[in-house]
Amino acid sequence: MQRRDFLSGAAATLLPLGAAQAAPDALKPLPAVRWRLASSFPKSLDTIYGAGETLAKRVAALTGGRFQIRVFAGGELVPGLQVLDAVGNGTAECGHSAGYYYVGKNLGLAFDTAVPFGLTARQQNAWMYAGGGIELLRTLYAKYNVLQFPGGNTGAQMGGWFRKPIKSLADLKGLKMRIPGIGGKIMAKLGAVPQTLPGSDIYPALERGALDAAEWVGPYDDEKLGFHKIAKHYYYPGWWEGGPQLSFYVNQTVWQALPEAYRQAFEVATVEANQSMLAQYDAKNPPALLRLVGQGVQLHPFPKDVMLAARRAAFELYEAEARTNADFAAIYRPWKAFRDTAFQWFKVNEAAYANFNYYVK
Ligand code: CA
Repeated sequence: MQRRDFLSGAAATLLPLGAAQAAPDALKPLPAVRWRLASSFPKSLDTIYGAGETLAKRVAALTGGRFQIRVFAGGELVPGLQVLDAVGNGTAECGHSAGYYYVGKNLGLAFDTAVPFGLTARQQNAWMYAGGGIELLRTLYAKYNVLQFPGGNTGAQMGGWFRKPIKSLADLKGLKMRIPGIGGKIMAKLGAVPQTLPGSDIYPALERGALDAAEWVGPYDDEKLGFHKIAKHYYYPGWWEGGPQLSFYVNQTVWQALPEAYRQAFEVATVEANQSMLAQYDAKNPPALLRLVGQGVQLHPFPKDVMLAARRAAFELYEAEARTNADFAAIYRPWKAFRDTAFQWFKVNEAAYANFNYYVK
């Protein structure tokens, strides 16, 4: 076919659409949609809270401003730990939160964020996007009328701030530590006394000795709260949060009513927000750690006996839960298989590359 013929042929087939016939659905102007996003997080956690704003901005840009999402910080619309309920019952159309805040409903929701001795951020992404994780979690979230999407990751968190060094497992006995969730349960099995405090209450409790230790996030966020001024011993790794992933929640009924083009925009924006948060932490944490060390912070790895006892206690807890909680078992069994295989691969190649470059002079 001559180029000229092709062009005139194309024009001929296109012409009637605009003129005589009704536009197909895909070409009709899409409706204005306004959603509210309830975040679990305060604006002071700028990197985490910011994932909600990344999502909202991209969704608006992809839809010519017709799909608007307004982000509310934790406590503005609903309390930070009630986001799952608020989205499920339609108080907010969508939310930004963490599955492990809701383990009181079902311990299986923790796999949507992190469980002790679980996946790294990269492995969590692999499991979620390409290893069946999203589908497994969606089956559980459907019970709460919510659809979830990965929504950011901090990377491996730090083990926290200790007023005195921990030399061995025996030093955990009676230690009052701010550590919520499953990590706290395991610390209790090791003899510590876990406490759950919001971020703003940690510093004064640590300062007056009501706490001996506290975990928060990592160098960038911890530095802002000033823990290094009152507890010089900074431990690693945060074995309870090796790659904690946050999540965006959408009310199922609202999602089903959303035009397909908006669903696509929302989904692709969640992927951007998920990636962008980890990239920001990986850029912000290294200089923050250098600043902390420059101010006299002493870095210590957790003693090996602490790590071994914690890992043993963690898997005892999972096995016990799997015997009585079918929802948990349905996620835990394939998650464990994915984890074990991933670890075999990462310990061969990624670990060798990292170990040589980080440690061998
Ligand atoms: Ca933490």
